[in-house]
Amino acid sequence: MKQEDIILHLGESPDRYLGSVVPPIFQTTLFVKPTETNGIQEEEYVYSRINNPTTEILEKKMAALEQGERALGFASGMAAISAGIMTCIKKDSHVICVDTVYGPTHNFLANYLAKFGVETTFVVGNDPKEIADALRPETSLIYLESPSSHIFRVQDLTAIAEIARKAGVKTMIDNTYATPLFQNPLVLGIDLVAHTASKYIGGHSDAMGGVLIGSEALLEPMVEEERALFGAVMDPHQAWLILRGLRTLPYRIKGHQDNAMAVAQYLEAHPKVKQVFYPALPSHPDYELAAKQMTGFNGLLSLIIDGTKEQQNQFIQQLRVFQHGVSWGGFESLVADATVNKDLPGVPSGVIRLHVGLENQETLIADLEQALMQV
Ligand SMILES: *Cc1c(COP(=O)(O)O)cnc(C)c1O
Repeated sequence: MKQEDIILHLGESPDRYLGSVVPPIFQTTLFVKPTETNGIQEEEYVYSRINNPTTEILEKKMAALEQGERALGFASGMAAISAGIMTCIKKDSHVICVDTVYGPTHNFLANYLAKFGVETTFVVGNDPKEIADALRPETSLIYLESPSSHIFRVQDLTAIAEIARKAGVKTMIDNTYATPLFQNPLVLGIDLVAHTASKYIGGHSDAMGGVLIGSEALLEPMVEEERALFGAVMDPHQAWLILRGLRTLPYRIKGHQDNAMAVAQYLEAHPKVKQVFYPALPSHPDYELAAKQMTGFNGLLSLIIDGTKEQQNQFIQQLRVFQHGVSWGGFESLVADATVNKDLPGVPSGVIRLHVGLENQETLIADLEQALMQV
């Protein structure tokens, strides 16, 4: 099935739901056993911390989009990421992770898991040899995020998957940037894919969720272990909202991509802009690898203003259409002071992140123009 057809129709059976073209929200905690009089129940639903039919529709679509055997829904992206990491490690494991990984993932690996003797080596990640050199006998997991946060570093997924397979080490990737439409890491040999649905998959800044996709062998035990025991399961109402958002993902992402390319080219040509980070531009350090591995880009980009910290803050304060906020992936344009007022591992100072939303392109560029003029 093609991506658009999976998104619209896979797993939705109107004939099971009185012909309803939109599947119902099974807003229930439990499913009672069929009796002789109502015994038409075909599937084994037990309790919504274990499984739920509405959430399962989203899981089936996400598994098909990523070309994986199985998907599991979680309460947030971080719930999926932390559960996925936990299933791949044990006490005193060693993990290799990219240094520009999403902040809370960095915190989970560097600080939280240190309590259990888990040690993480952070690498830049664009050179597979750097990862091979970081391997130890106790390495259990290579954790990737490609493109990564803030400056969008890219890792060679095929090469790293091969290194890991030879060493008997699991690989996991946060594939949120690319969405399942533009990169399918399982096909390239990665073991486990994580997404937050709170960004483009939901796409409307009104629902949180996370999904893991991988083999049946890896995910089936998680239903009763990490997902049921930590309990951060996706709620059916949340799943329904995310299903609604997902229906328009292919069209939204094209709009974000077109607007972001126009904004990136505008910024790159501007004399007050020192550097633009957008992996679809040839000026990005990982452009060639990104072009080889991905089939599209999104609305996230970063820039460094040629000026003092005060001028960088001034630019942020002057923006009106770009609202100040940390998230991304919704319809709205946002600006975040990534490393203007603080430091982040692997990210140069002065980086300002923009999420380019679905507003009119000229409106967005005019907003940047007036803010740059004030600097
Ligand atoms: C936002 C984000 C997450 C976390 O998702 P939540 O749903 O907020 O928990 C994970 N990875 C990346 C790359 C993100 O941007």
